[in-house]
Amino acid sequence: MSDFVQLQAALNARTSSVPSESGLPGRRGCPLSDLRDRLRRAGLRPTRQRLSLGWLLFGRGDRHLTAEMLYDEAMRAKVPVSLATVYNTLHQFTEAGLLRQLALDGSKAYFDTNPSEHHHFFLEEEGEVLDMPECGISVDSLPDAPEGMEIAGVEVIVRLRRRAVAGRA
Ligand SMILES: [Zn+2]
Repeated sequence: MSDFVQLQAALNARTSSVPSESGLPGRRGCPLSDLRDRLRRAGLRPTRQRLSLGWLLFGRGDRHLTAEMLYDEAMRAKVPVSLATVYNTLHQFTEAGLLRQLALDGSKAYFDTNPSEHHHFFLEEEGEVLDMPECGISVDSLPDAPEGMEIAGVEVIVRLRRRAVAGRA
């Protein structure tokens, strides 16, 4: 949480500082300026909301979440956003290539902070998504793509459920 207070302070400091970026002291390695650069490189203006949500999303390594999960995190971190803004931001990040949307469960969209192609385990009961280890699967027999098409990517989702405990019916 104290990290988030720092972020808020940094955002406030930047908002009230000179409008020209060139006058700012070089803060290399600062996660916030990294995030700002990352958004700019993806073609997104680094607004306060995008920075706050991006900071929550990308600050904890690779993970998978729904809009509701990110909204809960934002509420806990006292980021003033609506669920609709969270949805919009997730879709903007996805279109910009910063996130990947996973087709797992018809009722909820999951977003992956690692946009590269990889495979997943899906724990159906918990609604939890895990990355499969690199060596977890090999897809070496694919059908021919229909006429005029080529295969753009292959994503495998292995659905898991808990084994029934032995001794109980
Ligand atoms: Zn993943």
